[in-house]
Amino acid sequence: MAKKESMRCSFCGRTENEVKLMMPGYNGCICNDCAEMAYNIAKEQLEKHNNASPEAINLEQIPKPTEIKQYLDQYVIGQESAKKYLSVAVYNHYKRLSQDKDDIDIEKSNIIIVGPTGTGKTLLAKTIAKLLKVPFAIVDATVLTEAGYVGEDIESLLVRLLQACDYNVKEAERGIVFIDEIDKIARKSDNPSITRDVSGEGVQQGLLKLLEGSVVNVPPQGGRKHPEQKMIPVDTKNILFICGGAFEGIERKIALRLNTHVVGYGAGNHVSKADQEKLLHYVAPQDLRAYGLIPEIIGRLPVVTNLEPLERDALRRILVEPKNAIVKQYEKLMQMDDIKFTVTDDALDFIVDKAIEYKLGARGLRSIFEAIMMDVMYTYPSMKKKKFELTGDFAKEQLEKSNFAIIASTM
Ligand code: ADP
Repeated sequence: MAKKESMRCSFCGRTENEVKLMMPGYNGCICNDCAEMAYNIAKEQLEKHNNASPEAINLEQIPKPTEIKQYLDQYVIGQESAKKYLSVAVYNHYKRLSQDKDDIDIEKSNIIIVGPTGTGKTLLAKTIAKLLKVPFAIVDATVLTEAGYVGEDIESLLVRLLQACDYNVKEAERGIVFIDEIDKIARKSDNPSITRDVSGEGVQQGLLKLLEGSVVNVPPQGGRKHPEQKMIPVDTKNILFICGGAFEGIERKIALRLNTHVVGYGAGNHVSKADQEKLLHYVAPQDLRAYGLIPEIIGRLPVVTNLEPLERDALRRILVEPKNAIVKQYEKLMQMDDIKFTVTDDALDFIVDKAIEYKLGARGLRSIFEAIMMDVMYTYPSMKKKKFELTGDFAKEQLEKSNFAIIASTM
């Protein structure tokens, strides 16, 4: 019987008998000495990578605020004021990063965007991310709790940023973080002493540390801190924070403040003049405070802007205008089967009407569109037809057939 050949290390060539331990792999082996050496090399290289200085920002090559806004315009309909604020904030962020150390210290202007859900907060954040030359991460404030409670520690917000730049700390330290649903960590009651508010004020205090700029220890894998996990220190001084939240019901606080103002100064009645729907235009730091954000946090979010509720006209434009508008996507899908796709005006009106009727906003446009197009997308590719026109009547018939009303009631 042939003697079984002993294993050889694929790196140093020694046999099993010459080393303490041999570990077989998919297509070779490694001995304990080579494994240890490989580990040390990898560690050294990774550390070098993680601490490498990022490329200097050259302001000449950075898009100007008007150019940033033009880019946003291609994807986000309306929301002029938020787009402007964001463009300026991002541009200034670059300026700060490119400035000489001994110059005047330009402070960062973190932003807070207030707006009803489904009006484009995340879309804005995602669109701007595509354009940025610095790492960018979107994180959700709802998962955060105070250290020591079930949920994620505040520091874990920075994990996504580290992941976005392959754990290069210096790169992450000049990144931008979008914190969504910041309103969910508002203090739940006006009297914080009744019970401990683990997901409210405590989290805000933790977040404050990050916004202010300090060195925080980030658990590299996110989640909770484990004593055995090696922390990565990250300085947040230059990280720009953009916060977004629906702040449902904040209109009441705004109305209250405006009324108080009117009573106090005897001026004309601002609120009655203001369209109730448009109260968000007047959102100010005091309203965020009344809503339950602590003053220190508000102080660190000096730029407050708002998103408008999307009206009929905006919803209709969203269907056709953005670079990746749903109608354009369907045109493309059908074109791939050599089918020319067109939509009539009354079909667009019908879809918008339904989105408003079911109170689904922009988010509902896609679901309605897909429900209407389901049968066509199923049958047309094998029917050898060359064109399809989506009409109002067809849309109505298909939507009724699809039981969308029942689905929409649970959305
Ligand atoms: P939220 O404000 O809740 O973060 P999103 O940004 O996630 O809302 O919007 C949901 C979807 O609705 C987006 O993916 C996009 O298709 C559409 N949408 C919302 N607002 C706009 C807008 N202003 N312009 C274009 N599309 C929009």
